[in-house]
Amino acid sequence: MISVIGAGPAGSFYASKEKKDDVNIFEEHKEIGRPISCTGILTDSVKRVIDIDPSLIISKITQFKIVAPNGKTTYVDLDKTNMVLDRAKFDQFILQKAIDNGAKLHLDEKFLGYKKINGNYKIKTSKKEYETNMIVGADGPRSKVAQEAGIYGDRKFLRGWQARCEFPELEEGVTEIRLNLGEFSWIVPEDDKIARVGVIGVNNLKLKQDYGKILGASKILEDQSGMIPLYNRKQELRKGKEDIFLIGDAATQVKATTYGGIIYGLIAGGYLAEDKETYVKNFNKKLGKDLWISLKMREMMNVMSEEQCNEMIHIFQKKENIDVLGKHDRDFPSKFLFQLLMKEKKLWKLGFGIFKNKVFS
Ligand SMILES: Cc1cc2nc3c(=O)[nH]c(=O)nc-3n(C[C@H](O)[C@H](O)[C@H](O)COP(=O)(O)OP(=O)(O)OC[C@H]3O[C@@H](n4cnc5c(N)ncnc54)[C@H](O)[C@@H]3O)c2cc1C
Repeated sequence: MISVIGAGPAGSFYASKEKKDDVNIFEEHKEIGRPISCTGILTDSVKRVIDIDPSLIISKITQFKIVAPNGKTTYVDLDKTNMVLDRAKFDQFILQKAIDNGAKLHLDEKFLGYKKINGNYKIKTSKKEYETNMIVGADGPRSKVAQEAGIYGDRKFLRGWQARCEFPELEEGVTEIRLNLGEFSWIVPEDDKIARVGVIGVNNLKLKQDYGKILGASKILEDQSGMIPLYNRKQELRKGKEDIFLIGDAATQVKATTYGGIIYGLIAGGYLAEDKETYVKNFNKKLGKDLWISLKMREMMNVMSEEQCNEMIHIFQKKENIDVLGKHDRDFPSKFLFQLLMKEKKLWKLGFGIFKNKVFS
């Protein structure tokens, strides 16, 4: 028996691809996909991993409006639109694929811990104990599997404050990103009246004040806040040579530029199902570089002065630079960062200024 802990996108996608029989998914909540803690934005790159049923798409993003600290605005037109998903339905959609592949779902059953017995494992849930050969921790940022297996590591978290809100009028298709609230803030329209509004940063008073500012006078329909793990390059994805693995947020597989984690969790689940022996090497080789570059880009952005931030936006107001951003897939920055650096000498100067803050120490 294989025990998958967590029926989020990473766990369900893994279970939908696993070729072995007797896959059991344990989910602590009573309903799949709820409570929601996500904006649900996916880039086109997800199509390389899974076909998205059109019924899951609530709206599309055609343009980003980026507001610099000095109030100046840059518009980035996307060559390929981004999708804004119904996150609960998306989770249910992937789970159905797992069930179609033969997986068994245990709803409202929380993983509590495990013991090693004769080379196998006995897991304890809130309802029963089960003998199992393999444990897949897909149980989100505070992974109990990682904790119990002693591979939790030194993880850091951000707080994503988000609510679904009603506004008098919104510009459909245009997502607003402000760089002077939290690490950044967002207004993502579902239609011309409802948007997902949020701000992210470390959990402090200033962040709460920034959240108040971005919410403004809008009417809150649903709180969708949650924790996001910061990518940790040293995070163990497997407990030694044992059959205990981590995927998705449980493994801190989140891109620090935008804090999107869905695509990485899906890819990790796919690699693990393909071959558990090559999973760790495969993931680190193919995606470690992009996650690391994203982390370093984020660290640089976080130590930028307001002036440097304005300067960066100014650089990106040039059409040829906007075009590079609009054309490329931001999930994989290694593909376009070099191209941008070759095009725009001012980025080097800006980068060296920020280097002084020992970003790479
Ligand atoms: C405010 C906010 C906005 C975000 N916006 C985006 C976005 O636009 N795009 C994007 O790509 N990412 C976004 N993310 C990140 C994204 O939500 C996560 O990266 C993604 O959900 C990770 O999927 P996962 O399957 O690894 O974990 P999760 O989705 O967290 O799923 C883990 C599952 O495990 C279950 N579980 C936990 N513990 C146990 C236990 N002990 N026993 C049984 N079950 C358990 C949970 O109930 C949950 O169902 C956002 C996050 C936040 C907080």
